[in-house]
Amino acid sequence: MNKETDLSPVVPGLFSLPPYDKKPPSLLGAFCPDCNRYYFPRPKYCPRCLAPASQIPLKSNGTIYSYTVVRIKPPFGLPSPYSVIYVDLTEVDLRVFGLFDPEAIDRLRIGLDVELAAGPLGINSQGQSCLRPYFKLRKQMKDRE
Ligand SMILES: [Zn+2]
Repeated sequence: MNKETDLSPVVPGLFSLPPYDKKPPSLLGAFCPDCNRYYFPRPKYCPRCLAPASQIPLKSNGTIYSYTVVRIKPPFGLPSPYSVIYVDLTEVDLRVFGLFDPEAIDRLRIGLDVELAAGPLGINSQGQSCLRPYFKLRKQMKDRE
């Protein structure tokens, strides 16, 4: 398997890049101070007031609002089955859509705590392995000992 630092992100500007041992991955969103609203993915302009939207890394942990498991032939070299989820971020008023950890699909439940991860997952539009962001279950405190 490729080292994550050797791979390109699936889309530039979508999430922060490694090394994640120095700083955990985060989604790169936007904030409009006039409207006091956060966005992800980052729009070029605030959809409400059309002011330029400045990029901001979002602390990317939250709880699962909803999910589905997809069992048809996956696109982009994703594993089968794969899952997509909506996550309500903890620190900002924002619901984001993303992939879920393919290794933990059997543990998916609404309301579970998740955090962003990024790693080799699937292929990009050129057919090369790439880094993709996905949400994984947060470890419970008792599991961290
Ligand atoms: Zn605005």
